[in-house]
Amino acid sequence: MNTTQKQSTSVKNIPEVPLANLETLWLQVGGTLCNLQCTHCFISCGPQNHTHEMMSLRQVRLRLEESKLLEVKDYYITGGEVFMNPEIFEILAAILECGPLDVLTNGTLISPEKAIRLREIQNGSSHRLQFRVSMESYEEEVNNLIRGKNAFRKASEGIRNLGAAGFSPVLTVTRNWEEDKDAAMEDNLNSFLKSLNVPQPRLKILPGFLIGRLAENLRNYSDDEHVTEKCFENYDITNLQCSTSRMATQTGVYVCPILVDSDQARMGGTIKETLRPFPLAHSACYTCRVTGMTCKSE
Ligand code: SF4
Ligand code: SF4
Repeated sequence: MNTTQKQSTSVKNIPEVPLANLETLWLQVGGTLCNLQCTHCFISCGPQNHTHEMMSLRQVRLRLEESKLLEVKDYYITGGEVFMNPEIFEILAAILECGPLDVLTNGTLISPEKAIRLREIQNGSSHRLQFRVSMESYEEEVNNLIRGKNAFRKASEGIRNLGAAGFSPVLTVTRNWEEDKDAAMEDNLNSFLKSLNVPQPRLKILPGFLIGRLAENLRNYSDDEHVTEKCFENYDITNLQCSTSRMATQTGVYVCPILVDSDQARMGGTIKETLRPFPLAHSACYTCRVTGMTCKSE
């Protein structure tokens, strides 16, 4: 497990987030294996990170059976990189039998042939299939500084291929600029999507979490950066995504997609075992609170 995690064990009165309603199930079908090694990856994914192996179709089906009984409404899959999973197309079809699905991907492995197969899978389901492709910038040099050589070209091709197959992928970008530059960045990112012939350009800007590789490359959370009960005096704690979702991995079910490197965030072996409140002791919870962050699409 990653040693750069920061758990505020010494802080008293740590607030707990209730599980208000289990609406969303995340599945880490790519494990921590990725063909890229982004410098800010909060779970330090890469070609050699076997902390969480990929989920097999059989393992996914087990969690889906459980989720149906619990009346889960929608699904998200992530990794690592989900298109490294050799059973990815069967997994997508299985999930779409249960509900709408958002696929988080770095886009670099989506060839024209794969995009056509994805279109066929979508055409065979009454539930929506949507993609979120992560990049860092509309500028190749800036993007590749964080994502590595050729990442910009390959992700751009993946987005173009999805667009040609009739999908409108959402571009997700981790903010690496000052907030007052948001509007200009959004204009440029939308123009970039249009240049790739995406029918309906959409963006999702995410904050950086000071864990995993970002903690190694930038800094760790300071002692002051943790949530207390005071943080929730004028804030509805059930706005946090951990109030309505859980994250299934190959090794168990975690509270959320952000904390899969934290032993304390593993709440059980099955979803049913995780239907209880969770103490927000991790400093990453501070980022969720101050940014209003949710990994879900809006
Ligand atoms: S941020 Fe995404 S694309 Fe980059 S290494 Fe992590 S999982 Fe892979
Ligand atoms: S990191 Fe965010 S989503 Fe995860 S438990 Fe903390 S507040 Fe909830």
